[in-house]
Amino acid sequence: MYDIIIIGGGPAGLTAALYALRAEKSVLVLEKSGLGGQIALSGKVENFPGVAQMSGSEFADNLSGQVEALGGQIEYETALEIKDGDVKTVVTDFGEYTAKSVIIATGVKNRRLGAAGEDELIGKGVSFCAVCDGTFYKGKTVAVIGGGNTAVEDAEYLADIAQKVYLIHRRDRFRAEERLVKRLEERENVEFILDSVVQEFCIDSQGLSGMEILNVKTGQVSSLKVDGAFVAVGQIPQNDIFKGLIQIDDGGYINAGENCLTNKKGIFVAGDCRNKTVRQLTTAVGDGSVAALAAVSFISEV
Ligand code: NAP
Repeated sequence: MYDIIIIGGGPAGLTAALYALRAEKSVLVLEKSGLGGQIALSGKVENFPGVAQMSGSEFADNLSGQVEALGGQIEYETALEIKDGDVKTVVTDFGEYTAKSVIIATGVKNRRLGAAGEDELIGKGVSFCAVCDGTFYKGKTVAVIGGGNTAVEDAEYLADIAQKVYLIHRRDRFRAEERLVKRLEERENVEFILDSVVQEFCIDSQGLSGMEILNVKTGQVSSLKVDGAFVAVGQIPQNDIFKGLIQIDDGGYINAGENCLTNKKGIFVAGDCRNKTVRQLTTAVGDGSVAALAAVSFISEV
C-alpha cells in the first residue's frame, strides 16, 4: 500500500509528488499519456517566477526528473475509478493499487468547436496543438481559432513557421492578455478575422482544404483557403470518473477551496481540474504543494 496515489502527471501532480516524497511518503503517480501535461506542449514558459524562459518540455522533464530522483514511482496507466474507504483503491486499465490517500490532478482536455468536418479532419489538417504539429506547415497558410492566451500564443508560435496565419475569433475583444495580443498585432504575416465563427472545415482528397466562416455581425459567409487549422477554444476538465464519488460543480470541476480538500476525507485535488478562478502553471504547482502537505497531515492523523 502506498501513502499517496497521485492521479495525473502534469505540473500539479508532479509537484504534489515532489512535496510528498520530500516528506518521506511513498508515492505512486498514475499518468495516462505523457508526463508534464499541457505544459509539455507549450513552446515557451516565460511567466514562472525565477525562470526567464524555458521550453515547456524542458520544464516538464526537469520536474519529472526531480520526482524520479527522489524515488517516486510513475506508472503509465489510466485511472478508471477510486473506491473510497479507510484504504483508497484506485482501479486502472491494468489493475488496482491501494493507498492511504489520493490526490486528483487530472487536468483538462481540449474543447472541440463542434463544426462540420472537425472530427474527420483531426490529424489531416485540424490540430489542437501548435507546438506538436506546427512544423508540418512550414511556408504554408494556417488558421488558429480562439481568443484566449493559448490561441494568441499558438498564432505567434505559428507565425515563425507558416507563411500566413489567420486568427479567427468569435468576438472583437480578446480574453487573452493585452500584452500578448499587442505583440501578435505587430507580426506582418498575421491577420485577425474577428466576430467570426467556423461553420465548416472543408475536405478534399488531401485532407483539409479550407473553411467556411460566418461573420456573426454581418451574417456574411466566406471561404478561406488554409492548409492547417489549430483549434484553441479552451478546455474541459477530465473528472467524469469521479462523478458520484466527490462533489463536482456544473462546469465539471471538482469542488475544493484553496486548501485543496474535496468533500471526501483523504481525497485531495490539485491543479486545473479543481474549481478555481486562475488556471496557470504557478497556480497548478501551488495546488500540488498544498494538496501534498494536506495529504501528509491527513496520513499522520489517521
Ligand atoms: P480560455 O482562456 O478559456 O479561452 C478560450 C477561448 O476560446 C475564448 O476566447 C473563447 O471565446 C473561445 N471559445 C470558447 N468556445 C468557443 C467556441 N465554441 N467557438 C469559438 N470560440 C470559442 O482558454 P485557453 O486560451 O486555452 O486558456 C486556458 C487557461 O490557461 C487560461 O486561464 C489561460 O490564461 C491559461 N494560459 C496561460 C498562458 C500563459 O500565461 N502564458 C498560456 C496559455 C494558457 P470568448 O472569449 O468569446 O469566450
